[in-house]
Amino acid sequence: MTTFEYAPAPESRSVVDIASSYGLFINGEFTEAASGEALKTINPATEEQLAEVAVAGEADVENAVKAARRAYERSWGPMSGAERAKYLFRIARLLSERSREFAVLETLDNGKPIRESRDVDIPLASAYFFYYAGWADKLDYAGRGAGPRPHGVAGQVIPWNFPLLMLSWKIAPALAAGNTVVLKPAETTPLTALLFADLVQQAELPPGVVNILTGAGQTGADLIAHPDVDKVAFTGSTAVGKQIARGVAGTHKHATLELGGKAANIVFDDAPVDQTIEGIVNGIYFNQGQVCCAGSRLLVQESIAAEVVDRLKARLGALRVGDPMDKNTDVGAINSAAQLGRITELADAGDAEGALRWSAPGDLPDKGYWFPPTLFTEVSSAHRIARDEIFGPVLSVLTFRTPDEAVAKANNTPYGLSAGVWTEKGSRILSIADQLRAGVVWANTFNKFDPTSPFDGYKESGYGREGGRHGLLPYLIEGGTR
Ligand code: NAD
Repeated sequence: MTTFEYAPAPESRSVVDIASSYGLFINGEFTEAASGEALKTINPATEEQLAEVAVAGEADVENAVKAARRAYERSWGPMSGAERAKYLFRIARLLSERSREFAVLETLDNGKPIRESRDVDIPLASAYFFYYAGWADKLDYAGRGAGPRPHGVAGQVIPWNFPLLMLSWKIAPALAAGNTVVLKPAETTPLTALLFADLVQQAELPPGVVNILTGAGQTGADLIAHPDVDKVAFTGSTAVGKQIARGVAGTHKHATLELGGKAANIVFDDAPVDQTIEGIVNGIYFNQGQVCCAGSRLLVQESIAAEVVDRLKARLGALRVGDPMDKNTDVGAINSAAQLGRITELADAGDAEGALRWSAPGDLPDKGYWFPPTLFTEVSSAHRIARDEIFGPVLSVLTFRTPDEAVAKANNTPYGLSAGVWTEKGSRILSIADQLRAGVVWANTFNKFDPTSPFDGYKESGYGREGGRHGLLPYLIEGGTR
């Protein structure tokens, strides 16, 4: 196959100003953490320190929740939906206007290719605010009856794989519904949430409507445990989600949990092969596979398995792995040393259990955290690489003979976030989708997101929808029942 050499095309980082240290964003202002503690955030592609950020302790959580409560009672709660919408539209517009700044910062802090932060993360984050702005004055039609009410103060905790996008999935519906928020970004990717705080000031939101507390797991636990938080929204691992579910049980708090996944991407023998190969690649190597809904289990019909695997290997060999700031890069850095350790451990378990590893050839950069696009064949459903969420660029290939076997294997997982079906037959798509225990089923595509479309899981992938009209419901109580 002919391959082309590309000249480097690095995006300039001069568009962002990264301060050497950041405080917490409470009541509309950046303040020092009472805890006096800080953590470092680094660029995972170079291991260069980007900034120090404050670690919020219990006293800081108290201040932020108080500020959110005040804003809920005095400004945001009493405000009309139409007025709230104006602020949300303003945020959406400012995110678009400053998209390059956000994209560069996201790539530096997360390690994802600039092509993805520029074309996916930031435009979608803006689109979610735009979409929920439109709902703010139409809540009577959201599905909670006439005159639905917000909960009050929402405590929100998000992961590092789509930092700004997950922030928008949390903050946009919460504010549209009339809640105020205290949000904690992940410890390895706090910078775009802090830049968002700057944007909140620029949009002149009333103080306390949005508060951003940086810190690690303990800060998240303190926030969720705070007695004056009414609504808990968490996206992250199933292990932490279970702890949170136990913590809020028996309290007045409502919780939504968006957790892990181990999606099946099912390829039938009549699938259009070229599109399918691109869909498989997008399904598992997008964002280095650090995607909750990644198509990490490829279920391919036995008669075409050899051809699909061969073509997949050829395609993976052409992916460009390296500098995330280069506009030609397809696969960037793994977000942290810890995550690289988890991926490495699970891939080694694949070897130990007898699966056959193949990794795309090519040199990886010396500095930073890297894992080559990898696939395993000879995988059985009992292998750890077929059961555990790897959250990295590692695909497990399994085969099936009949549609029933495909469905049985696809559903043989404790998770149920997403799935993919590749076939030319529309009737088969409908029949298979109907039998899959997965919140989202993509047909002849994968990893497509849209603010109008709900997203959620079955089983250990969590509960509570995000996106679309459904995404408003967890932030609203039926009218008159507070
Ligand atoms: P994680 O659970 O370790 O951390 C997520 C967030 O929770 C971080 O901000 C972390 O600081 C915080 N946290 C950690 N311990 C906590 C505690 N005891 N109480 C409160 N907060 C705590 O997950 P991660 O490794 O950052 O993210 C990867 C996971 O997120 C994967 O399992 C992935 O599938 C999942 N995810 C799910 C969705 C979805 O929509 N379902 C989306 C993205 C990621």
